[in-house]
Amino acid sequence: MAAPTTAPATSNGNRFLILFDFDETIIAENSDDAVVRAAPGQRLPDWLMALYREGHYNEHMQRVLAYLAEQGVAEDAIRAALEKIPPTPGLAALFHFLRAHEHDYEAVVVSDANAYFIETWLRRFGARPLFRQVFTNPAGFDGAGRLVLRPFHAHSCARCPDNMCKQVILREYLARRLEERGGRAFQQVLYVGDGANDVCPSLALGPGDVVFPRRDFPMHRLLEAAAGGGGAGGGPGPLKAQMVPWSSGEDVVACLQTLVKER
Ligand SMILES: [Mg+2]
Ligand SMILES: [Zn+2]
Repeated sequence: MAAPTTAPATSNGNRFLILFDFDETIIAENSDDAVVRAAPGQRLPDWLMALYREGHYNEHMQRVLAYLAEQGVAEDAIRAALEKIPPTPGLAALFHFLRAHEHDYEAVVVSDANAYFIETWLRRFGARPLFRQVFTNPAGFDGAGRLVLRPFHAHSCARCPDNMCKQVILREYLARRLEERGGRAFQQVLYVGDGANDVCPSLALGPGDVVFPRRDFPMHRLLEAAAGGGGAGGGPGPLKAQMVPWSSGEDVVACLQTLVKER
């Protein structure tokens, strides 16, 4: 039988899919904030902050990157700022576990940061090969040395920012992988995140799946409300998946270990 041409045949047997947000989930802070430290005075001017409009974060970040370029902040300085960001607590242990169980766990990143930030950090941390795919806003330096972002996609989800709905990404990925895997679904889908935009994909998971919201971060608070049976009054809708809050990557490892043994 011919192997699928879209993916390596050897990597279609994983039982579990695990999705990761990036900012404050893989890395210990927001990458956008880290990059601002490369600006003169390590901060943004008030006029630039005043232009920010809620729900238009991607546009705001475009202006920030344009400002950095105007101030002569070059790629080297941006890369250096990114590479200094530490991982979240216990993340190294979690990545180590996933590497040791690469035949069980297929991993992807789903992030509203951008390709340059994420690829730079993951490569520096030696973790890029762990991920089958990175879903994020495309980014590249233009001729003037400015990092230019583009929206990831267009969608019609009312809950999410214009440039990205992580639930749409998750659904499309699952459909594509199902086809590539010859109709074999993942036994379980796992989602590790921290932010408000990690709620939408979490609500698409089923009762056999697991969401890992970072303890006391917005995703955790919003999902606790959703688990209480929201949905009617414009709430986010009920959460069907199991919820396992985490403070350290080791909390996630403890859960993944039981899943590997159980099934
Ligand atoms: Mg985040
Ligand atoms: Zn959405």
